[in-house]
Parts: sequence; structure tokens; C-alpha cells
Amino acid sequence: MIGKSLDVPVLMLQTEALSWRLAEHHFKSKEVSKHAKNLRAGYNGEKSLAFTLSFLPESSYIILHNLRIYDANGFFQIDTLILSPQFLLIVEVKNIAGTVIYDEFGQAIRVTKKGEEDNLGNHIEQVNLQHFRLLRWMREHDFSTIPIEKLIAYSNPNTIIKNLMNNTTVSDTVIHKESLLTKIDDYSSIDKFGCMSEQELQFLSAFLINAHTTNKVDILKKYQVESTDILRGVFCSGCGFLPMIRKNAKWVCHHCGATSRNAHLEALWHYSLLVGNTISNRQAREFLQVDGIQTARRLLVKEQFKQIGNTSGRRYILIF
Ligand SMILES: [Zn+2]
Repeated sequence: MIGKSLDVPVLMLQTEALSWRLAEHHFKSKEVSKHAKNLRAGYNGEKSLAFTLSFLPESSYIILHNLRIYDANGFFQIDTLILSPQFLLIVEVKNIAGTVIYDEFGQAIRVTKKGEEDNLGNHIEQVNLQHFRLLRWMREHDFSTIPIEKLIAYSNPNTIIKNLMNNTTVSDTVIHKESLLTKIDDYSSIDKFGCMSEQELQFLSAFLINAHTTNKVDILKKYQVESTDILRGVFCSGCGFLPMIRKNAKWVCHHCGATSRNAHLEALWHYSLLVGNTISNRQAREFLQVDGIQTARRLLVKEQFKQIGNTSGRRYILIF
């Protein structure tokens, strides 16, 4: 069963919104776009892994996606944790195109089609550290001892994985997601009886979910972008032109001629991701690039955003 489902990562949405709203020539534009693409690829990888895991028998396993747990060293994150009576399994998901070479130390190097090399870090040490921190956390909370396995699963079947020195840790740990179910079967067959009862497992799952903390990021601060650098206005959903003009209760694109009744929604969504989830009439006029107080009010009321505060200090809560 799924104990904690795979959510759309807010950081990915924030980074994507920022990449849309930075001018091409902005000094952070390339970096933000690259990160946005990486986060989207990572999320797609996790989605495809979640699909593979949906073939596991419901009653024998509890699957927890995207855990972020606080310990003595700050937060540690686990992409996917699988709980079974016999073992726990940490799965770190990688969605990387091209060829990935592992050296004798577990260091991963990506070779692109153009022959460029990218250092991806030491994946083996990364999962070893997650293992160590999860084990320590469980001991601190008096959970029974249970074997903790770990895997690095590549979600893109076209990725070529090379184990340069035939390192057994690499061959035991790094897999394509297609081998995941076989691996899980292997771990299950080692000990038929298990270390944890179903009740203990349910308790551990609930305890982990309770300890999970979402990561709230001030995305502008993260990239040292000034709020004045964010592009204002409503994007045309037809051609991407900025800004559409408000005319006769519609949004009109002067580039492709498209019209829209609700193109402001995407802009307000971007505002909530980049700036904050409440907006005043003045801020809405400035961000949507409309002149009239009544026009902005009508748009905010039409979308039924909850209102807080009185006339002059009224704010609208942007929930999508
Ligand atoms: Zn257009």
C-alpha cells in the first residue's frame, strides 16, 4: 500500500515559475532554467518508479515517497522508502540521459553525446549516508533492528550504466528500474519470517510520516533574485507572449491575436509560488499589469479567493 504518496514538488513548481519570469538576459536565467529542467526530470523519474512499484502486492509492503526527516545534522531526504516485515529499502531515483560511468570509489560521471563529462557526485556514499541517518533515527526512537537495503534506480531505460572497475558495491546497488521488483523479491526471500510485525510496521510508517517536514523555500532568496527582476504581466497561453492586454473583460494577445478569459490565473499562481500566497488589490494590479482598482477586484472576486482584512488592508488568499 502507499503510505505517503508522491506529491508534485513545490520547489520544482517554484523553480519553473521563476524560469518563466526571468528575462532571458538575466544573470541567473540559465542556471534557474537548468535547475527547473533537472527537477522536472527527477519528478518524472519518480513517477515512473512509482508505477513500477504499483505491481508490488498491496498487503506486503508500505511505500513512502519523498520523506524529509530532521535529525542531529539537519534534514535528510529519501526519494522512496519501502517498508516490509523483512527489510526496509531506500531507493534513490536517478533520471539521467546518456552514459553514466561509476569509478572504483562509486563516483558517478555522466558522459554526454558530445563527449562532455559531468561529475554527478558519489551516489554510493549518498545512499550510505541516508542508511546511516535512518538507522540512527530509528535507534533513537526505539524501533526494532531490521536490515536496511539501498538501491540507486535509473528510471530512464536508455541510460547506459558502466561499472568501470567491476566494483561489487556498484553492481549490487545501481540498477535500472526494471530490475527493482526482482531485487525486492530477492531481499524478501532471505528471511521468510521477518523482523517486524505488521503492527510495528504500521507504527513505523505513521511515525515517519509524522516526522516528515515539507521544505518551504524562499525561491528569490535561494537564487539571490530581486523581486523587481521578476517579469510582470499575463502570459499568452497560445504563443507565450508577455504581456496580454486587458480589454472588454478579456485578455488579448497583441502578438498572435489569441484571447482568454482566465489567463490571469496562471500569473496569480506564479505570484503565489514566487512572492507569497496572499495578494492585495494594489499588488494584483501591479503584477497583472491592469490599471483599474475595480478591474483587479472583479478578477480576484470572480475566482472566489478567500478574503481577509477590511477594505483598505484587504488581502486575497491565493489557493489553487
Ligand atoms: Zn499570443
